[in-house]
Amino acid sequence: MAKNPKLIILLYHKIDNYPKNAKFPGLYVAEKDFDRQIKYLKNSGYLFLTLSELKALYDYYFTNGKKSGIIPDLISKRGRYVSLTFDDGSRSVYSNGFKILKENGVKATVFMVSGLVDGINEWDLKNGENRDKMLNMCELKEMAEYGIEIGAHTDTHPHLTLISAEEAYREISVSKKKLEDSLNTDINFFAYPYGDYNEETERLVGEAGFNGACITKTGIVKRGADFFALKRVAIRHNTDFFKFKRKIFKVKLFY
Ligand SMILES: [Zn+2]
Repeated sequence: MAKNPKLIILLYHKIDNYPKNAKFPGLYVAEKDFDRQIKYLKNSGYLFLTLSELKALYDYYFTNGKKSGIIPDLISKRGRYVSLTFDDGSRSVYSNGFKILKENGVKATVFMVSGLVDGINEWDLKNGENRDKMLNMCELKEMAEYGIEIGAHTDTHPHLTLISAEEAYREISVSKKKLEDSLNTDINFFAYPYGDYNEETERLVGEAGFNGACITKTGIVKRGADFFALKRVAIRHNTDFFKFKRKIFKVKLFY
C-alpha cells in the first residue's frame, strides 16, 4: 500500500469544441483532448474514483484505516487516484463525454444545477456566455446507473457569499432534495458555483447533510484536507497535452 497516496480531483465543465465567440473559453475541453487525458491517466496507473469513493479512500489512508466494502478493489499499488468532476451539468457531458468515460471504463462525478434540469445555462447567459443545453433527468439517470456520482451545484447557480444565509441555505438544501427525489439516491457532494465560498457557506453545506464540497482553488487532497473546501485542478480548452501532464506533475509536487 502506498504511504503517500496522491488524490487528485480534476475540474471540467463542457466536453465540446471551443466556439470562437465564447465568453468563457476555459469552460470547454474538446472530446479528443479529454479522451487523450483519460488514457494518459489510465496508462500512468491512476484509479478513477467518484467523490464518495475518494472520501472512503481518504478515511482509509488518513483517518481510521478501515476498509469499507468498496475499498479493496480500489487500492492502487502506486497510490495514484483521480476524481473527474464536471460542474454545472452541461448536456455535452452526456452527448460527448459519457461515451469516452464508458469506452475507458472510468467513473466521474457530475455537479448538477438542480433548477435547470433539461433547461439552459441561464446564469451564464446573464454573464454573456453562449446558450448551452443542460442535462435532462433521463440522461442523469443513465449516467447514475452506469456509476457516475451526481452531486449538487445549487438550484440556480448564484454567488453564495453574496446572498443572505437563509437564501444560501435554501439554494444548497433544495438542490440536494430535488436531485435526491428525482434520482432516488443520496446526493452526498456539492460544488460551490464560481468557487465562491466562505466559512459560513461551508457550515451551511455541512448542515444540509453533504459529506463534502469542491472549490476551484488548485491543489490535491492530502492529509488534513478540509472536506468542505476540496481543492481541484482545472482543465481548460487551452490545456494541451503537454500542459496537462505538467499540471498533474506540478500539483503533486507543490500542493
Ligand atoms: Zn458552475
